[in-house]
Amino acid sequence: HRVPTPSARDRIVPLRPSLVSSSFPDQPSCASRQQLPQWRSSSSSNSSNKSPASPYLLSRIRDYEQRHKRCDPHSESFLRNSQELLTRSKDLAPDCRYIVWVPVNGLGNRMLSLASSFVYALLTDRVLLVDFDDSMSGLFCEPFPDDATWLLPGDFTFKGRLGNLLEKSEKKHDEEIAVQATALLYLYLSGDNNYDMLFYRDDTQKLLTNVPWLVLRSDQHFVPYFFVMPGFRAELDRLFPDKEAVFQHVGRYLFSPTNRVWGRVARFYDTYLAKAEQRIGLQVRVFYPDKTPASLMLPHILRCMQVVSGILPRLQQNETSPTSSATRSRTLKAVLVASLLEEFYTELKDMYWMRPAADDAAVGVYQTSHEGWQETGNGAHNVKALVDIYLLSMCDVLVTSHFSTFGYVAHSLAGLRPWYLQNPGDYEAKRNEPACVRAVSPEPCFHFHPYYDTNSANHGDAAGGGPAPVIMNCEDYEWGFKLA
Ligand code: GDP
Repeated sequence: HRVPTPSARDRIVPLRPSLVSSSFPDQPSCASRQQLPQWRSSSSSNSSNKSPASPYLLSRIRDYEQRHKRCDPHSESFLRNSQELLTRSKDLAPDCRYIVWVPVNGLGNRMLSLASSFVYALLTDRVLLVDFDDSMSGLFCEPFPDDATWLLPGDFTFKGRLGNLLEKSEKKHDEEIAVQATALLYLYLSGDNNYDMLFYRDDTQKLLTNVPWLVLRSDQHFVPYFFVMPGFRAELDRLFPDKEAVFQHVGRYLFSPTNRVWGRVARFYDTYLAKAEQRIGLQVRVFYPDKTPASLMLPHILRCMQVVSGILPRLQQNETSPTSSATRSRTLKAVLVASLLEEFYTELKDMYWMRPAADDAAVGVYQTSHEGWQETGNGAHNVKALVDIYLLSMCDVLVTSHFSTFGYVAHSLAGLRPWYLQNPGDYEAKRNEPACVRAVSPEPCFHFHPYYDTNSANHGDAAGGGPAPVIMNCEDYEWGFKLA
């Protein structure tokens, strides 16, 4: 049945030309596709009003959709191309070329590399197919219109062999690009060896145009590197004139949560968040619980939220001080705490319940779930993870954890510059460093990339009349870089 639009039912405004194809019917089977853009355009803090998608991106996406329909696994072209793959014909003249995405690691990592793969498909006129495992199958609606599918068929011909190939390559890290046949290349872009560099060279890209099937396995957000490749740069500038909204546009277009996920998002939002004047998302990802127990994390979070950013009010000293009787005029803040752990939620909730806030604001603290530990192979667990990602992306202000791809997806979808909670592990040694830093742009960080000198990109090229600087070292991880 229909899922209600969160708190925006009466505030629907006309949309500008949309990334969502008009060929999608008003689909009850994927309510988020229509309802999320409507909610976003009516939300005052939403960034899509500031950075609309370029007309060129819209036209390239409409072209892509036609190509996808022509080449998808239901098409005759697909059948022909996959049969040719089986016979390993040397004289291929493929009418469709593919990039097949294979999942690896957590959901945040997956969404980042999937979005990067879609940008790659746009840049290279390929068709993006996904080899989802069971744990991914109930999360996202089909992204492309006209009943096209992006799912690689379960019985696809090279799948058995691919399994072996992946295993082999994983054991053999020094062989980044393993050649199965001229018709198929397996790209393992993990950032843990020097061979990734080959992929980011214009001459390699030229060679790859002759390979109809690319199978890509990566957990990285690798789009930023394309912006420093001369072969891709001009096209990227046309597609994304606003470099701070690349993932925002691609992620919002590609990912529409299924009704199962969206229903939970909408109900939670309506019940706990909709009425607040300010929605604050706090994502606490604890990578090493032994090194950073809650006793260390909690004061760290409070330093960030009450002192450094001032997002949350401090508490009054006296538990018994009277609260203002003019309760109607009090500001209502809702804090959504996304974490695998429960204690940050309970502690914050109790704090703001037991003592009055200094500015007398009413602070409600909420959590959808606390799963305890990461269980990437579990579909029900991934549904909860995606619910948290989307609820965070609907907040007005975000505090997310440094180095977390889960947090990156949430703030990039929101188009918000988050505050990054820094690692408190060596807090004693870094007593004078702030508990959190404000991001310069909402874009995600490319953590493990082949060496690139961001200084030369930003100063050398620009000084020499080259393209304007677009990448910077990440605020939360200095060895990574990102679009800004
Ligand atoms: P990263 O490890 O922080 O970069 O993010 P990933 O998404 O790649 O992997 C972490 C995984 O742990 C997520 O996909 C979820 O399965 C789980 N997880 C981490 N944080 C949360 C959270 O706040 N809420 C929920 N529901 N799951 C989480």
